[in-house]
Amino acid sequence: MTAQLDHADVLIVGGGQGGAQTAISLRQLGFQGTIAIVGDEPEPPYERPPLSKEYFAGDKTFDRLHLRPAAYWSEKAVALITGETVVRVDPESREVETASGRRMSYGVLVWAAGGSPRRMTCEGAGLAGVHAVRSRADIDAILAELPGVTRVAIVGGGYIGLEAAAVLRKFGKAVTLIEAQDRLLARVAGPQLSAFFAEEHRARGVDLRLGVGVDHLEGVGRVAGVVLADGERIAADLVIVGIGITPNVAVLEAAGARTTNGIDVDARCRTSLPDVFAIGDCVNQASRFAGTGRIRIESVPSVTEQAATVARELTGQGRDHDALPWFWSNQYDLKLQTIGLSGGYDQEIVRGDPAARSFSVVYLREGRIIAVDAINAAKDFMKGRAWVTNGATAEVLAT
Ligand SMILES: Cc1cc2nc3c(=O)[nH]c(=O)nc-3n(C[C@H](O)[C@H](O)[C@H](O)COP(=O)(O)OP(=O)(O)OC[C@H]3O[C@@H](n4cnc5c(N)ncnc54)[C@H](O)[C@@H]3O)c2cc1C
Repeated sequence: MTAQLDHADVLIVGGGQGGAQTAISLRQLGFQGTIAIVGDEPEPPYERPPLSKEYFAGDKTFDRLHLRPAAYWSEKAVALITGETVVRVDPESREVETASGRRMSYGVLVWAAGGSPRRMTCEGAGLAGVHAVRSRADIDAILAELPGVTRVAIVGGGYIGLEAAAVLRKFGKAVTLIEAQDRLLARVAGPQLSAFFAEEHRARGVDLRLGVGVDHLEGVGRVAGVVLADGERIAADLVIVGIGITPNVAVLEAAGARTTNGIDVDARCRTSLPDVFAIGDCVNQASRFAGTGRIRIESVPSVTEQAATVARELTGQGRDHDALPWFWSNQYDLKLQTIGLSGGYDQEIVRGDPAARSFSVVYLREGRIIAVDAINAAKDFMKGRAWVTNGATAEVLAT
């Protein structure tokens, strides 16, 4: 018996933020062809940012995370195929195959497969009670265990680890956060912001361990503690691992797509394969806002813009992707908004008063503003957009 073969004019792999937005933008721009989204999660497309914020904290129910109501997809004639993992792409015959053996052909393929949480590889990493924070399933598993948990260890001092720490303190759990670098947010922000967040988390009772790695996890069946590289043992009934993601590129790479820390795409989000686009957390793209030239960005605004870029290209309105990156993070009553990319900065200027908990850190490279981290300072975030776009000098900070 031959497996069922379906066809979509635009076949989107990945039913997350980028996959959903591609279909939404295509219909908004009047695309009349057939569209299918194949995703491996059981749910229709939902937004991830609340997973470590409002959904984790119990302030939003899951139905409020859906990117569109269930009826939208049928009304707009977007076929949603959930619970199917694409394991093979054949760019010659323009076919994909899923793990269950289902085959589909495409006119255009959009790869929006995001990333998988990086796992620890040390002894004990596979014990029960060790969790990532990437999907609804991850958070539901943590929430199910929390009533029996008093001590949580978080590995990783990036946004996700810090947001999780803030929620867990709200729940009254004892929290130890372990970061191998000597400061928090080291990959994305300068030392001034790191110091501010370290102070805030300490003041709320988070036990921060900076500059020390994890040697192994211990426990019998279930995790009971984290043993640090310096030999110290941190007791923990639950461990959250927030050490970044690995972009999901393997299937497309095996099909011949060029990759460098993500799938290489051009300014229209085209991969090196014919009629195959890629967007989101799994792609590497040139950006005039990145000092390094090319960058892989993990953010909702970025993938939303890339999805629109693909939709425009497929409806004869093509325009290069040239969006100024921005990000946000909520921790306690602190709203951090970032505009631009601070990588490669050579000067940091603090504007406002960190003690008043409303200030910003402005990053410059060769005298030009390249990024702004605004903490409870929405006006600076808004002004920052113009500053970064225009490559303003520090003189504008007097305004
Ligand atoms: C906890 C958390 C908090 C975040 N907070 C923020 C924030 O505050 N602000 C912000 O801007 N960004 C935030 N982000 C990042 C943001 O959610 C991502 O940048 C965005 O979701 C990327 O969209 P994407 O479509 O590339 O990937 P995703 O949304 O991850 O979607 C990819 C989908 O593809 C599926 N998939 C993977 N491989 C296959 C396959 N082979 N076959 C079928 N399906 C597959 C995945 O399971 C997933 O459903 C956060 C992310 C997380 C996890």
